[in-house]
Amino acid sequence: MLNETFVQKIKNIKTPFYYYDMELLHTTLKKLTEESGKYGFHVHYALKANFDPRLLQEIRQYDLGVDCVSGNEVRCAIEAGFPAEKIVFAGVGKSDDEIIYALEQNIFSFNCESREELEVINSLAAQRNKTARIALRINPDVDPHTHQHISTGKADNKFGISYTEIDEVLAQLQTLNNINITGIHFHIGSQISQMKVFEYLCKRVNTIAEWFEEKGLNLSHINVGGGLSINYENPDANPVSNFKEYFEIFAQNLHLRPGQTLHFELGRSVVGQCGTLISRVLYNKTTGSGKRFIIIDASMTELIRPALYQAHHAIVNLSSDQGAITYNVAGGVCESTDVFAKDIVLPETKRGDIIAIKSAGAYGSSMASRYNLRNLPASVYSDKL
Ligand SMILES: *Cc1c(COP(=O)(O)O)cnc(C)c1O
Repeated sequence: MLNETFVQKIKNIKTPFYYYDMELLHTTLKKLTEESGKYGFHVHYALKANFDPRLLQEIRQYDLGVDCVSGNEVRCAIEAGFPAEKIVFAGVGKSDDEIIYALEQNIFSFNCESREELEVINSLAAQRNKTARIALRINPDVDPHTHQHISTGKADNKFGISYTEIDEVLAQLQTLNNINITGIHFHIGSQISQMKVFEYLCKRVNTIAEWFEEKGLNLSHINVGGGLSINYENPDANPVSNFKEYFEIFAQNLHLRPGQTLHFELGRSVVGQCGTLISRVLYNKTTGSGKRFIIIDASMTELIRPALYQAHHAIVNLSSDQGAITYNVAGGVCESTDVFAKDIVLPETKRGDIIAIKSAGAYGSSMASRYNLRNLPASVYSDKL
């Protein structure tokens, strides 16, 4: 996919960098809020997918809440101007400092992941004369049919409170006076592409919610987490996730009581496709066994997903369209897993060519590290180019 205009525009910009297509971000946000708005659903953006300040500024215009998994994320969301009453805070390892900060901010809900955590939040709230609103994160034992490293809702994952434990949790809650249970929360995994999985999740949630109701507990909200996939294989043809079908499934299958609100926490499907990692080819080499490698100036320190989850990203050479050669594309970090793709066909590629790694907006820059003492990647926005 030759793109001379783009290559020309960036010719003086140092690579590697993340390029964000702001128009696509807005198209995605419009579609997301249009489809969720049909049913009055509440969407919290999962900040860990990407906390680039410019992206947050755009996302904030759409009246979304935020899903946080650390105290610093709560702080980041508040500093970016998101209202505290739309912030939810999950995570199996909330520290005392993080809990105290979130209590002081009066966030919408702590999504609690263990019985011990309930005790800790209760006592920290009591010391401050506060009542913490919480939702129980319940592990519903649903197989999301995604990569095992991004699956979070099966019985043996570390996340959530087992549904077999709920009886004891309810008894415990009777004794915790500074906790107000307002909801239940689920998040079963990420990059879920089989819509049937969400339908199945709805059925499990209905059963669990009914059970709470029978115990006389009024839940004012249900939070079904995130996990909607994006298309990594063919991003150009599928730039926006199927929000219509996704929200429709919940509208049709999840039974809400009068006044009960339904919440979602979406990350990948909000920002995944608007980001592309742009790099230059440094070297061409052929191994002893005859494999041809392209070494680019981006690496696993800018985008760790291939090394961490064997994730696939479409890769294109924007500078050339001549020939067809099978290559491995690798970064320069001293790790054998620092490979972006194996045995992919690209045009004949030479030093200096611009290589685009697509669908890198989610869990790309937010997972960047300084391993090998490399620089953190810069961001370039389409409307500033
Ligand atoms: C990461 C995370 C999400 C977002 O998942 P996506 O697959 O990016 O939509 C939502 N909720 C919780 C609790 C998370 O940890």
